[in-house]
Amino acid sequence: MPQAIGYAAQAADKDLEYFEFERRDPTAEDVEIEIAYCGVCHSDLHQARNEWGGTVFPCVPGHEIVGKVTRVGDKVSKFKVGDTVGVGCMVDACGHCHSCDEGHEQYCENGFVGTYNGEDKHLGGVTFGGYSNRITVKESFVLSVSEGLDLAGVAPLLCAGITTYSPLRHWGVTKGHKVGVVGLGGLGHMAVKLAAAMGAEVVLFTTSPGKVEDGKRLGADHVVISKDEEQMKAWTNQLDFILNTVAAPHDLDAYLSLLRLNGTMCLVGVPAEHHPSPAVFNLIAKRRSLAGSLIGGIAETQEMLDFCAEHGITSDIEMIAMDDINEAYERMLKSDVKYRFVIDMATLKQK
Ligand code: NAP
Ligand code: ZN
Repeated sequence: MPQAIGYAAQAADKDLEYFEFERRDPTAEDVEIEIAYCGVCHSDLHQARNEWGGTVFPCVPGHEIVGKVTRVGDKVSKFKVGDTVGVGCMVDACGHCHSCDEGHEQYCENGFVGTYNGEDKHLGGVTFGGYSNRITVKESFVLSVSEGLDLAGVAPLLCAGITTYSPLRHWGVTKGHKVGVVGLGGLGHMAVKLAAAMGAEVVLFTTSPGKVEDGKRLGADHVVISKDEEQMKAWTNQLDFILNTVAAPHDLDAYLSLLRLNGTMCLVGVPAEHHPSPAVFNLIAKRRSLAGSLIGGIAETQEMLDFCAEHGITSDIEMIAMDDINEAYERMLKSDVKYRFVIDMATLKQK
């Protein structure tokens, strides 16, 4: 079995540090990938610090992976050595429940296998993620990546991209719609770019006055400072759809009241603590819906990657060295990321 190196949290209150572990040799259906870049998602931080509960340590986070194929199993037909590929948040699912049959592996009724902290059916224990030099993944969970795009900027599409693309598509966002995006972080900045590319009029809601210009550059038609009540009120009953990416508990009513008749606010942010419960009157007054969405299926992830290639969309990134990961987490907590950290895996060295 090939030895792998990476960075792991050994406990919820410990910084990530150098870690050595085993990866499986590719089975007939597997693809082995040398990881070039891995994006840093706020979910990595939530899980490395066990903020959602259920983290098994040591935990090697990372589910925004791009790299090159180094070996393939005998039955692999879609990929060959040297291909540029991606891996997102899932590496397996049951393949036979209703959700899997419909291509929604993320809603697998028997539970999908997470790229990290999932049940490792090959080696036992839990899966280890992309903060590492290599990974072995079942072919059907590997995505094709267009060579034409900046690869480091593609990595965040594997989670931040699909997590925002899927609900925008599900709720039919298109030209003529007014779409709110709450929070300009990793997910939020992808939501702004994607909703704009789908033709919507985009209204960005941010707590950070310093992000107004960036918000417009990224594709927002309007930027609202969400702490300013007057600015918020001006959008009452205006929006068809809101995608809320905020990673902390906050007052949902302030946003629900901005939805027009039959409008929906979809939550994708998963704070460690619950949001205060929204007011029922605010929902019934305009038959508003409050919804949630989880990443996206494999076929839809490929569709998103192809959409991004066609529209020239990648993530705005800050490249970091593997050693910088703990500092990057601290900056993420201060909403100080422009707009996704990506680890350059060439900086991960054997110790
Ligand atoms: P991120 O880069 O840290 O961005 C979150 C943004 O939320 C911040 O940049 C900030 O934007 C805003 N924010 C943070 N704290 C806030 C507060 N106290 N009040 C108001 N706004 C605040 O995080 P991310 O990687 O985009 O992830 C966002 C959330 O989505 C996380 O909880 C993550 O776990 C979750 N997630 C969910 C899925 C899914 O499938 N549903 C997938 C991936 C990630 P401003 O500075 O603009 O206010
Ligand atoms: Zn993620």
